[in-house]
Amino acid sequence: MTRELARLPIYLDYHATTPVDPRVAAIVLQVMTANFGNANSAEHVYGDAAAELVDKARGHVSALVGAAPETVHFTSGSTESIRLAIGHAVSVSKKLPLRVAATTVEHRAVLDALAAHEARGEAVVHWLPVDHRGRLDLEALEHACRQGADLVCVMAANNEVGVIYPVEQVGQITARFGARSLIDATQAAGHLPLRAQEWNITYLALSAHKIYGPKGVGALVAPRGFGAQSPNHRVSGVGEGTPNVPGIAGLGEACRLRDIEHAADEKRMEAQRDRLESLLLAAIGGLVVNGDPEHRLSNNLHIAIPGVPNNAVIARLRRRVALSSGAACSSGAETPSHVLQAMGLPYEIQGSALRISSGKFTTDEEIECAAEQITSAVASVRHALKGVMA
Ligand code: PLP
Repeated sequence: MTRELARLPIYLDYHATTPVDPRVAAIVLQVMTANFGNANSAEHVYGDAAAELVDKARGHVSALVGAAPETVHFTSGSTESIRLAIGHAVSVSKKLPLRVAATTVEHRAVLDALAAHEARGEAVVHWLPVDHRGRLDLEALEHACRQGADLVCVMAANNEVGVIYPVEQVGQITARFGARSLIDATQAAGHLPLRAQEWNITYLALSAHKIYGPKGVGALVAPRGFGAQSPNHRVSGVGEGTPNVPGIAGLGEACRLRDIEHAADEKRMEAQRDRLESLLLAAIGGLVVNGDPEHRLSNNLHIAIPGVPNNAVIARLRRRVALSSGAACSSGAETPSHVLQAMGLPYEIQGSALRISSGKFTTDEEIECAAEQITSAVASVRHALKGVMA
């Protein structure tokens, strides 16, 4: 780490984005400067080499998520993957409006895409509720399928509370009823085993910048024929338009490294998260841990300290520890998290929620130091609040 970086706050917002692995960055740079050909240039070796890089990356993505290589399409990230998947389900549906069943804790990217189709009369959404721990009732999902849902949207892991969803069962249930499934695996890919093909998942979205790859590139696993039917042919990686070969190669390398290294990293991150959780629980009276302790991402710790506003804690930590109150797109906004609302958590929990997410570069020393900093920030807010009350 450079001296300049050493002065930056401890980074515990890996759910928002991750630093690029230097080995991935080296590949991206190499492709930009040496292997810079246009993958559509079929008339010379520069183009051939670029097309080969795209194919190689497709192989690495498909291996990580257990999909057939020809079903992997490159996009600008999960938001685009999700939009394309839902658009595709609408466009191939024999009957409109498309009947969608989606969990209430899906990412904004899913909610916004569904809202756009609903506004055009192309979709109707039946919401699948979660309980106070963020858990999904699979019977409710099965019931929705029995009632005729065409598309079921369930994220593989939640980006706020880190709850892991049973996507294997989701794929199997939807397939049994002939419905399509959209699995947003943005936070799960590289952490959890995924077998898109074996589990009968129709669409699966992932993004490079959550797995130590570059921003602005991701992938969508979609059924055969998707490229031809898609309103945007560029997503096929090689076709119309010039593919983002450096980004695609970076995504591929990030997937390859996750496949090899994730098991060891998961163990370390889980131990660090548990250590941070126990330090905070011991030091901060009244602290609660949100989400499902049985099924949560190894790098997620979602806490609340009722009566201690999260924005006051975050302001005190600004130069010391980088964490967030919720999803990157809604943190800092005044509106409460739709995820915590969907879980039916009381207002004091919603207003004091802190999302702490670590990653493979987080050190034990940073965990100890972050625990001290968070504890002292909470104590400082409590002290200030006492002064106001006095
Ligand atoms: N889905 C989930 C669960 C996410 O966490 C995010 C990003 O935070 C997205 C979708 C959108 O991903 P992208 O930033 O690649 O568009």
